[in-house]
Formats: sequence, C-alpha cells, structure tokens
Amino acid sequence: MKKHVKLYDLSQPIYHNCPGWPEYAPTVVSRDYYITRNGFNAETVTLNTHTGTHIDVPYHFLQDGRTVDDLPLDAFAGEAVFLDFRHKAADTPIDGSDLTPFANKIEEGDIVILNTGWGKKRASSREYLYEWPYLSGSGAEILLKKKVKGVGIDTLSLGGWGSPDKGRPCHEILLGAGLFIVEELAIPDDLMDDRRLWFSAFPILLSGCGGAPARAVAYDLTDAKDGHVSRS
Ligand SMILES: [Zn+2]
Repeated sequence: MKKHVKLYDLSQPIYHNCPGWPEYAPTVVSRDYYITRNGFNAETVTLNTHTGTHIDVPYHFLQDGRTVDDLPLDAFAGEAVFLDFRHKAADTPIDGSDLTPFANKIEEGDIVILNTGWGKKRASSREYLYEWPYLSGSGAEILLKKKVKGVGIDTLSLGGWGSPDKGRPCHEILLGAGLFIVEELAIPDDLMDDRRLWFSAFPILLSGCGGAPARAVAYDLTDAKDGHVSRS
C-alpha cells in the first residue's frame, strides 16, 4: 500500500561558528580535502553534542541517567502537539498557568512542542543567545502530570539563561522522569493551526553521551496530494 506523506523539516543547520550555547566551544567545520587537490571533498566537524537541533537524554543532568545509545528509536518518535507561545516576551518563563489553557489539547504519550517564535530569530545575537522564553519547573510539572513522552522547543535550551533556577528545573524534572527533550527546533509557520502531526527527532548514535544532534521531522499523513512528498 502506498502512503502519501508530507514532510516538514524542523531542523536548524549546523555550520562553522553557528549559534550555540555561549559557554561551549564554538562549532568548527574544517574543510580538509578538496576535489581540486585530493579528488574528493571531506570535512572534519568539531562540535558540542548540544549543537543545532539536538536531543537531551537523562545522562545530561543525571550521572546514572540513560545515554543516547541506551534509548530505542521509538523513544524519539510519536504524535506531536504544537503549542503556540509566540506571545511570550523575551526571557520570561512558560509556567504551569501558561500551559493550563492547552491542557485539553495534550494527550498522554504526546511529544509537546513549544513554539516561541525564537527559532526564526536564530543568529549570534543577544536576543537569541541569552533572552529566550523558557519552560519553568511548574510548566515541566504540568507536562509530566499529563504523561507526555517528550518536550521540544525552538530555543537554544528548554531552560533559561542566567541562573541555575531558570535552567535546571525543567531539565531535572523531565530528564529525571526519563523523558527526552529536543532543543533548537525550527518550526514552519504552517504548523500553527493546531494540527497533530507525527514527529521524530532521531539523534545520531553517539555512545555514552547525554545529547546528540538530530534531524527533526514532522509527518503530515493527511495532507499529501498525488503522492507528492515535499519539504518545507
Ligand atoms: Zn541540550
């Protein structure tokens, strides 16, 4: 049976000196082999595991937590619900009270994607690197109560910048419960109409690591026309 699927790419690109966590070493892409000299092109890329669109797994915040290679593929795929938080101001928390209006949209087993609009601001700017809206501990608790499978966001991190009180709680709560997090998503405008879509973000298979770059994809199983598969 043929299945027609429209694919949306939700990934931010990784490139030399791309925006990243300010305390980590910058990403380096070194072009080591050239067709003109060597007969082929090949590159060496040096990057922190939390660069570009990437997964956080429990080992990121828990010494005994599971690593990327401990988790099966189905940990990183499932039905996703996209929640619109583009009204949130810079450097403000998404609290439990912000999530309450969406409570009836979130189902058990969902991957909840928080769209702040920050993905469109991606640059080495103060706004993108330090001032994104973030999920607070109370927000993480609500999602945990809803028994979600994972949480994604289109900002540099799910937690905020500037103090452990802003950065740690959501990571400790969600990763502590064995969930995964996907950060630095790029969310297309046409995923803002409350559709529920299949989603996956499969991390590259790095042994013993607490994070890994991933290609994040949303799959629209209802909207494809004439077998056409398109990228947005
Ligand atoms: Zn991360």
